[in-house]
This record gives sequence, C-alpha cells and structure tokens, in this order.
Amino acid sequence: MSFATNLRCRECHREYPLEARHVCDFCFGPVEVTYDYEGIRRNVTRERIANGPASLWRYRDFLPCDAETAVDIGAGFTPLVHAKNLGKALGLNNLYIKNDTVNPTWSFKDRVVAVASSRARELGYSKLACASTGNLANSVSAHAAAAGMEAVVFIPNDLEAGKVVGSSIYGPTLVKVRGNYDAVNRLCAELAGSYNWAFVNVNVRPYYSEGSKTLGFEVAEQLGWRAPDHCVVPIASGSLFVKIRKGFQELYKAGLIDEPKTRMSGAQATGCSPVATAWQEGSMNFRPQRPNTIAKSLAIGNPADGYYSLVQLQETGGSCGSVTDEEIVAGIKLLAETEGIFGETAGGVTVASLKQLAAEGRIDPDELTVAFITGAGFKTLEAVAEALNPPLEVDATIESFESAYRAVAAQGVA
Ligand SMILES: *Cc1c(COP(=O)(O)O)cnc(C)c1O
Ligand SMILES: [Zn+2]
Repeated sequence: MSFATNLRCRECHREYPLEARHVCDFCFGPVEVTYDYEGIRRNVTRERIANGPASLWRYRDFLPCDAETAVDIGAGFTPLVHAKNLGKALGLNNLYIKNDTVNPTWSFKDRVVAVASSRARELGYSKLACASTGNLANSVSAHAAAAGMEAVVFIPNDLEAGKVVGSSIYGPTLVKVRGNYDAVNRLCAELAGSYNWAFVNVNVRPYYSEGSKTLGFEVAEQLGWRAPDHCVVPIASGSLFVKIRKGFQELYKAGLIDEPKTRMSGAQATGCSPVATAWQEGSMNFRPQRPNTIAKSLAIGNPADGYYSLVQLQETGGSCGSVTDEEIVAGIKLLAETEGIFGETAGGVTVASLKQLAAEGRIDPDELTVAFITGAGFKTLEAVAEALNPPLEVDATIESFESAYRAVAAQGVA
C-alpha cells in the first residue's frame, strides 16, 4: 500500500496514472509523483518511522511503491556525523557530514535504484536498464541481481576501473559507449522508445528521483526532527539537490517538523559546471557544457534538473560555485584526514565547495550545516593515488624500519 496517487506535470499540472512515463504529453514538462498528504498525515508519526527498519524503507509512507514487496538490499539510514574536526578547519561551528558512502554499493544511488527497481517490478518489467556516470551502473546491477531481473547498463567509455568492476561483478550486460554521459543518455532515451525495459533514470525517472528524498528525511530525523539551516549538495543532473529539499517539505506537510527554512547550496566541478556558471552570471538559463573533470560521477553537461536547481538556489538563498580538479583532490584528502571518511571525487567537490562557501562568508559559522558525501573513495582511487605519500618499504628488520622511519620523521611527514 502506498499513498502515491498520480504523476503530475511540473509545468501544466496535468495528471497521469502511476505508469512508466517521465514527460507530459501535452507540454513535455517533467512529471512528478503526487501523494495523498491527508492520508500520510493521519497515518504517519515520528514513532511509526522510528520503529521501522534501519533502511530507507522506514519512510515507506512517503514512497511510490509497496514496501512489502520492495527490492531491498539495505539502502539508506547511513550515519550523520558531527564533523567537529573538519568544521574547525573551515571555521564552521555546527557542521555535519551525511556519510552516504556506506550504502550497499557505496553511493547514494542505492536510494534511487531501490525505489525505481521496486516500482519497475510492480509495473511488470523484467529488465532494468540505465544511463550511468558510474555509480548508477553499480547500483542497478546489484539491485537487478537481488530482484532476479536482467540488467542492461550503459556507461561512458572513460570510467574508473572501480566503477566498471563494481558493475560487472553483479553480472549485468555492461555496455561501454564511445562517448560521454550526454551521448549515453541520448542513446538510452532513444532505446527507451523501442525497448520495453525500465530505464531507471529515463522512463521510470519520476520513481527514481523520489528515492533521493530519503536523504532529507534521514537528516531531519537524525537531527532530532528538524531541518538543517544550510545544505551543501553535489549537482550532476540536479535531481538529488532538488529532492533533498522536497524531503524536508514533505515532513513539514505531514506535521513531523517545523517549517523548513533551509538554504540549499550546490557544488560542481569547474570542468562541468553549467549550473554554477549560470548562477554566477545571474541567469536562469544554463548553457550545456562538454565535461572535462576528474569528478566523472558529476559529469553531466546538460542537466535534466538544471533549471529547477537554479530556481531552488534563488528560492532558498543558497549559492553555487565550482572547484578545480586540484581542489577536488585536496577536498578528498581534507575530509579523510579530519574525519576518517574517504569520499569519491564527488565528495571532494562537496568538501572543496564547502570550504569555498565558508571562506566567502556564505555560510554563517553557527548555522547548522550538512554536507552530503555521496560516494565512496575506493571507486575513484586513480584520482588521488598520485597525490598521496607512498608507503615506506622496508626489510623485515628493526634497522631497516628505523632508518626508513627516521627519514620520514625528519621530514615531519610521519
Ligand atoms: C549521481 C551522483 C550525484 C548527483 O546526482 P544527480 O544527478 O544530481 O541527482 C552525486 N554524487 C554522486 C557520487 C553521484 O553518483
Ligand atoms: Zn504538462
């Protein structure tokens, strides 16, 4: 049983049944899931959620599929860490890290795929497909395996080894497309027209994107049922950025938290920064960009929710900057060295952007700020390997160890 009622066009508000559809026939606007909020309000309490499973299915009443028959590999309910050390380094007194690196396939994409694969199976699909920048491929492959569905997964041909192996291990048909993500996405949009497959981020995208709301729900619950003052979120298509706020707003509609006044700030890599560039120029129209950055998971040059991201920046008083590849690597190291959390390149984008926003005074030092670390560093070892101290190599003798150790200790490295 779900409280989802319809798909509704974001632009002209025409309604459709809960089918596999992502655009409005009438105006080609994106469609979004609507709910019976009265029913949710009557049914849901903080206690009911707290007594639910330690996964995103504790928020089942806000999701567009039946939790009883869901594809569940344990996505969600990840730690919210009070980041005192990183906060001190950046001059922020009330900083938290939402550590979504510890999901089943080590990125937040398990949230969106849990919902999309569940709904796809309900709709009778036997094949799951996706256009991926890497993490989605891992998650679709894993969920399809657990669901007993076939997976056909499309990726650009320049992905990190960890993301390729991290998909292949689950046994999908993995398709490397000679081109960047925007080319992969175009191909999948065409294929979705003729193949009766559930492309999680194309024809069942409205269900997929609802999964990202659970990050908002969790953060609010983990803060003791309140929305944060400020969020810093990495932007690829912009879906995650927009849906975290929808999560806060729905908790408010359900009477579970006070009205959220959260400022939403975005984070992009300079090598793929269509939203940040439009924001800096004061424009509500972004220009698509050909990506060139080590943050491959965020390398979407023509973001589907780019416009809505700009609207949200404006509505909430947030900000969006961009950071260089060097800053990304420094951000990954800073997070690891201060908090013991190893994020992938998108995490480096978030931390470097957080640093930039703090330095520019765009985050008040006492604001309750949450930075979202959305994928694990073991997937993008290539990005940092060369920037780290190599291990000491010694013979198995005390003398050999001591001479090597003295040398580094003298440099102040150890
Ligand atoms: C996909 C992804 C994002 C952002 O996704 P959106 O397309 O903006 O919803 C952020 N971080 C990581 C690690 C991702 O894989
Ligand atoms: Zn419409």
